[in-house]
Amino acid sequence: MMNEKIQNLIEELAEECRKEKVGLSLAVLDAEGEMALAQAGPESLVSIATLEQYNHVKEELTELDCDCPKHRMLKELYGIETE
Ligand SMILES: [Zn+2]
Repeated sequence: MMNEKIQNLIEELAEECRKEKVGLSLAVLDAEGEMALAQAGPESLVSIATLEQYNHVKEELTELDCDCPKHRMLKELYGIETE
């Protein structure tokens, strides 16, 4: 079970975004692999925000010049070609 404070903060944030019609897409993942997803607000904004987040991380990974096992795995998960 994820930290109660984190859960409460996510709920509060989601509620505020719903109220303000702001698109929210949020994922939290702990070291044990427990994941929570939160989405709130207009569907189109949520979808675009999610895509932008994915593209941002992918771009950072693409530009990252590191060949350690962790980053190799992450690049493979994102479909980034490595030599
Ligand atoms: Zn690395």
